Amino acid sequence: MIISKAQFKKDFQKKMLSLYSQEVEDSSNSEKYFALGYLVKDYISENWAKTARKYEKYGEKQVYYFSIEFLLGRLLGSNLLNLGIRNTVNDALTEMGIDLNDIEKIEVDPGLGNGGLGRLAACFMDSMASNGIPGHGNGIRYKYGLFQQKIVGGYQIELPENWLRDANVWEVRKPDHAVKVRFYGDAWMKPEEDGELTPIHTGYQEVLAVPYDTPLVGYENKTINTLRLWSAEIDSVDSGIPAGGSSFRNVLSYKREIESISEVLYPDDSNYEGRLLRLKQEYFFVSAGVQTILKQFKELGLPLSEFGEKVAIHINDTHPAVAIPELMRLLMDEEGLEWEEAWRITQATMSYTNHTIMSEALEKWPIDMMKQLLPRILLIIQEIDRRYRESFVLSTDINPSVIERTAIISDGYVKMAHLCIIGSHSINGVAKLHTELLKKQELKEFYQLYPYKFNNKTNGITHRRWLMLANPELAALLDKTIGDSWRRNPQDLKLLKRYKRDDNVQSEIQRIKLANKTRLAEYIKAKNGITVDPNSIFDIQVKRLHAYKRQLLNALHILYQYIELVTNPEFDMLPRTYIFGAKAAPGYYYAKEIIKFINALGEQVNNDPRVKDKIKVVFLENYGVTLAEMIIPAAEVSEQISTTTKEASGTSNMKFMMNGAITLATLDGANVEILEEVGAPNIVIFGMSEQEVLNYYRNGGYNSRELYNSDPRIKAVLDSLVNGFIKDIATEGRDIFMSLIDYNDEFFVLKDFDSYLAAQKRLEDLYKDRFTWNKMAIENISSSGVFSADVTVKQYAAGIWDTRMIER
Ligand SMILES: *Cc1c(COP(=O)(O)O)cnc(C)c1O
Repeated sequence: MIISKAQFKKDFQKKMLSLYSQEVEDSSNSEKYFALGYLVKDYISENWAKTARKYEKYGEKQVYYFSIEFLLGRLLGSNLLNLGIRNTVNDALTEMGIDLNDIEKIEVDPGLGNGGLGRLAACFMDSMASNGIPGHGNGIRYKYGLFQQKIVGGYQIELPENWLRDANVWEVRKPDHAVKVRFYGDAWMKPEEDGELTPIHTGYQEVLAVPYDTPLVGYENKTINTLRLWSAEIDSVDSGIPAGGSSFRNVLSYKREIESISEVLYPDDSNYEGRLLRLKQEYFFVSAGVQTILKQFKELGLPLSEFGEKVAIHINDTHPAVAIPELMRLLMDEEGLEWEEAWRITQATMSYTNHTIMSEALEKWPIDMMKQLLPRILLIIQEIDRRYRESFVLSTDINPSVIERTAIISDGYVKMAHLCIIGSHSINGVAKLHTELLKKQELKEFYQLYPYKFNNKTNGITHRRWLMLANPELAALLDKTIGDSWRRNPQDLKLLKRYKRDDNVQSEIQRIKLANKTRLAEYIKAKNGITVDPNSIFDIQVKRLHAYKRQLLNALHILYQYIELVTNPEFDMLPRTYIFGAKAAPGYYYAKEIIKFINALGEQVNNDPRVKDKIKVVFLENYGVTLAEMIIPAAEVSEQISTTTKEASGTSNMKFMMNGAITLATLDGANVEILEEVGAPNIVIFGMSEQEVLNYYRNGGYNSRELYNSDPRIKAVLDSLVNGFIKDIATEGRDIFMSLIDYNDEFFVLKDFDSYLAAQKRLEDLYKDRFTWNKMAIENISSSGVFSADVTVKQYAAGIWDTRMIER
C-alpha cells in the first residue's frame, strides 16, 4: 500500500486517541505498540476482505495447511515490511522522536510451536501469501505457548508462556463462525429395512470450537490470506450437561476440562505424550477446520464431486491425520455420499508431508483410546483398513506379511502415517536425502505399492524475515550492489556471485558481520554477564536439544580444546566464541543433562585464566524466533552436525547460509543440497556417510569403547567428564559417559569425533585467510536463493496442490 508520512502520523495520533484517550507524546512504548498494531491491522483489513472476494470470484482452488504448530514470530515488523510501508512508518516515527525498533520489541513472540516443524509452517504462510497462492493455515490457539526457558545454576527451568496476557492485536475472534466438535459416546452401524446401514453416534460430548483469524500479509501484492486458530470453549450449559449434573461446581470443572483442549502446546516434537489430551487436540482443530471448509465449499453451489478440484488439505506431519476419516465422515454421514465417492474425493483432497524417520516420533494410537474418544472416526478407520486389506485379496504377487506391516490397524494400534499414505494422493519428504530414505528404507513397502504418490519438496525459509528483517544492513548492501530484484525473486541473489572477489563488497560484508556480532556481544554481556570479543570467531549451534542433533559433539570438541590449552604448551588456536541456544523437552532427561554440561563447561572455561580468553562458551536462554533473528546474522560458523540420516531437512542451516555463515556439516538432510548449491570449497563437511550409518544400524559392528581405548584424545575428554576435572557435573558427567561407552553411543558422537576435529581445524585455517573466508561467505549468500520458501511453496502448488498463483 502507499501512504504518506503525514497521513500515517494523522492515523497514528487518531488511533492513540481512540484507544487510550491521550496524545502520542504522553504514551508509553507499550501503548504505542498497541496503537501502531491496531492501526496496521486496519490497513490490512481492506485487502483481507478483498482477497477473500477475489478468490471466490475467480473460483480459485484453496489450500488449507493443517498443522499442530505455527511458530510465527513477531508480526509487527513483518506486516509493515510486507505492506511496503516499513520505511515510511519508520521515518514518520523518527520525526516524532520514536524508535520503531523499541516499539517492535514490545510484541510478545507467540511461541505456538516447538521448532523446525512449526517454523516451516510459518515460513510457508508468508511465502504462500507473498506468491499469491490462496493458502491458509489451520491450527490451535494455545492459551500457553511453548514454555519459557530460564537457566538457573546451569539447569533448565520451565515457566509458563502466557502470551495472551495482554491483547493480541493481530487476531480477530469470530464467534459466529464457531462449530461443534463431538467427542466420546457410542457409535455403531444400524441396519435399516432396505439393508442399508445408518451410522449412529449417541451420548457424545460437544465442544465449541471458536475461530480466531490472523491475517497473513503477502509481500507488496495486496494478498491477505488467513491463519485460523481454534479455541475450545464450553458451548452452553444445556448442551452436554456434565456427568455429575449441572451444579455450579460441576459446570466449572466441566468448563475447565473443555478449555484444557486448547490450553497448552505439547513441549515436544519428537515424542508423543499427553496421550488422550493430545489426540483430543488433534481431532479438535481438524474437525473444526474440515467442517468449515466443507461449509464454505457448499456456499459455492458446486456439486460435491468437485470438492477435490476446489480444495486441497495438506497434512503437516501426522498430527492432523484424522482429517482423512473426518472428511469421510462428513461426506457420508452429513452429505449422504456413498463410500466410494467419498473416498475418491478424500484422496483427491488430501496430501501429507513426512517430517521424520525417528521411530519414536511415529504416531500410533491404541485402538481402545480411539474407540473411547472418537468412536465414529474409529469405525471409519476400521473400514478404510478393511478395504485396504481386501484390495489385495486377488493379487498373488503381494506377500501377506507386507499387507500386515502396511495396514493401518495392527498390534492393537492405529498407525497414523499409514492412514496418511493410504488416504492421500501425495506424500513428500522434506529434503532429497530424506525422501530417498523414505523410499528405500522406512516406507519402502508403501513406495513399491504407490510409487506415484511419493515426491520430494525440500524445505525452505522466508528470505523476508530471515534476511530483510533480521539483517537490514546486509539487505541494503545487496540492494546497492545487485539491485533489489532479489526481494521479489530470491534466486536473483545469484547476481552477487560476480562480487565475490570485489574488495569493496568483501570489506562491507565483513563490516556488517562485525556489526551484527557486536550487537550480539552486547546482548550476551547484558543477559549472561559474559564478555565476548566480537573479533573472535562466532561459532553457533541453535536448535532444539536432542541427542541426534549432537550438541554433545560440539561441547566435547570445546572440552578437547580446553584440555589442550591448559596441558599442551604447543597448542594454539584462534579465539572462538561458542554460542548455544536450545530448549529441551521437559521430560527429556538426557537433553537437560547436556544443557547442564554445556553451562558447567562454560562457567569453568570462561573463568579459567589459563584459557586467556581464547574460548568463550555462551548458552543463551529461551531460544525462539525472536532470538534467532538476532543470533543468526551474527554467525560465522553454522553448526549442522546431526548424525547422518537423522535430520530430515533442517532449516536453520538455510537461515545461516543466507546470512553469510559457513556451514560445518554432516551430509544429512538439506546440508547435502547446500553442498550442491554452494560447492565443496565453500562448506566444511565431515562425518559418516549415509551408507556407513545404515550399515551399522543394520549389521552392528560399532564399538565405542574401542575408540575410547584407542584414541587418547577421546579418553582424555571422556575421563574429564567423570574425574572431577569439570566441576559440578558429577551426575551429568557420569550419565553422558555411560551413554557414550556403556550404551555404545547410539548417535555416533565418538565415531565422528576425529573427523569433526579435523573439520574444525580446516575451518580455522580458512578463517585465517580473510579474503578466502569473505569469498566463501559471499558464495553462500548468493547460493541461498533456492532455499527461499517461495521456491518451495511454488513446487507444492504445482506438484501437489494444483493451485494457481493469482496475479497482483
Ligand atoms: C529455524 C528454527 C528452528 C529449526 O532449526 P533446525 O536447526 O533446523 O532444527 C527451530 N527453532 C527456531 C526458533 C527456528 O527459527
